[in-house]
Amino acid sequence: MIQGAAALNFLPHTKLISNHNNNVRSLKKKTPTNKYSRLQPPKSFCAVANPHESALKALCDEGNPQAALQLMEQQVAAPPHPDTLTALLRACAESRSLPLLRRAHRHIQTSSPSTRRLLAGVYCKLGAKEDARRLLDRRREAYETVRELHGAMRRAGYVPDTRFVLHDIGEEAKEEALMYHSERLAIAYGLMSTPPGTTLRVMKNLRICGDCHSAVKVMSVVVGREIIVRDNKRFHHFRDGVCSCRDFW
Ligand SMILES: [Zn+2]
Ligand SMILES: [Zn+2]
Repeated sequence: MIQGAAALNFLPHTKLISNHNNNVRSLKKKTPTNKYSRLQPPKSFCAVANPHESALKALCDEGNPQAALQLMEQQVAAPPHPDTLTALLRACAESRSLPLLRRAHRHIQTSSPSTRRLLAGVYCKLGAKEDARRLLDRRREAYETVRELHGAMRRAGYVPDTRFVLHDIGEEAKEEALMYHSERLAIAYGLMSTPPGTTLRVMKNLRICGDCHSAVKVMSVVVGREIIVRDNKRFHHFRDGVCSCRDFW
């Protein structure tokens, strides 16, 4: 399942692939046209059989998002049903609590533009226009994430190999050029859109450069994730600072 293609339009040779699209797809399907009614339960709602989900949904419907979030965080369970997430957002909006909304945000996949618009609408309702703007400006957020990640990687010992930049520019500009290679932006996008620990899969139709290969190894440690990059030659499974290709590709 290819996801995030729209948000990655600025990366012509790279795509982020994710399996975590269920709630996004369902939210999209049920999004009504009226702005406020987006937060109303869908007409076709049918109770979820799972007792954990039912309890979550009931707490949201009772207007108790705090208890719902506690329950979500205490129990290791599958990502909540889209109807539950919609109810949770509605409860957060009604509670007018920005900290609760931010907490809920951490449980919501935001790869889909419609989900981001929905969340941004609730942020606006609670007066957090900057959060709403950030949510809608994915490109800028991806670049910011790459810069933050780059700093963390440098602190972890990564040294950019500027030999992979062929342009005749200064060392600093070369480091910056490497930092924004498409696979790193795609990984940043994945980090923004998925819960901690989720494996990230990136497809690239050009060969990964030597510096990105070293960088993604460090990244896998810094972010604590398995990162799979498929370039035009092979799959690279990066985990705990090493790649499955053992640096031969
Ligand atoms: Zn590269
Ligand atoms: Zn490799």
